[in-house]
Amino acid sequence: MQKPVDLMVITAHPDDAEFGAAGTVARWTTEGKSVVYVVCTSGDKGTSDRSLSTEVLVAMREKEQRNACKVLGVTEVVFLGYQDQTLEDTPEFRKDLVEQIRIFQPATIITLDPYRRYLWHRDHRIVGQVVMDAVFPFARDHMAYPDLLDRALEPHKVKEILFFGTEDINHHTDIEATFDLKLAALQCHKSQVSELGNGDLRTWLRNRCRLLAQGSPYKLAEAFHRIELPD
Ligand SMILES: [Zn+2]
Repeated sequence: MQKPVDLMVITAHPDDAEFGAAGTVARWTTEGKSVVYVVCTSGDKGTSDRSLSTEVLVAMREKEQRNACKVLGVTEVVFLGYQDQTLEDTPEFRKDLVEQIRIFQPATIITLDPYRRYLWHRDHRIVGQVVMDAVFPFARDHMAYPDLLDRALEPHKVKEILFFGTEDINHHTDIEATFDLKLAALQCHKSQVSELGNGDLRTWLRNRCRLLAQGSPYKLAEAFHRIELPD
């Protein structure tokens, strides 16, 4: 039986979590808390290099994600294997997320905000939406999936969700101490950040985290919309 984890990070693509939440993840792991990632697609459309085949890109991006997780001290990373740019709000996808939530029983989930307006990757919007539905009510109601119960995947109540990429910030985390880990984890995604030199990436990321810290007492922050779930 899996021991309940403290935090589950659910994203659409390899690198989403490093852009949006890796400083927070590193805070949790350095405090000895357990973190798992669930990555819904393997980012198999995320390149402008026409010489790369889908298989090569999938292998590359999954490896980059695993390397980033190693840097951050993340215990486990699960790839659901959906194709990039194909996520939809379907009963199958929702059930896949419920299954992971019931396996790992996280107290907190970090995911993408579905309510960001205008330019926002469709997969991001869908993941946020489906995670929310999976958490409440599907993961917590025993009648929802009798076959999961048969597999001893008991209902689970998540306590809070932190949405990143949000336009409605109500929660900051101080990432000054873990900024270098966030940068190192982001640098693992070579296929995505290679056009920026290391120095450039550091400057860009620092400016971004400084901007996100506005309205908080911190110098460098990640910003979320936080909701608490009823007991
Ligand atoms: Zn993404």
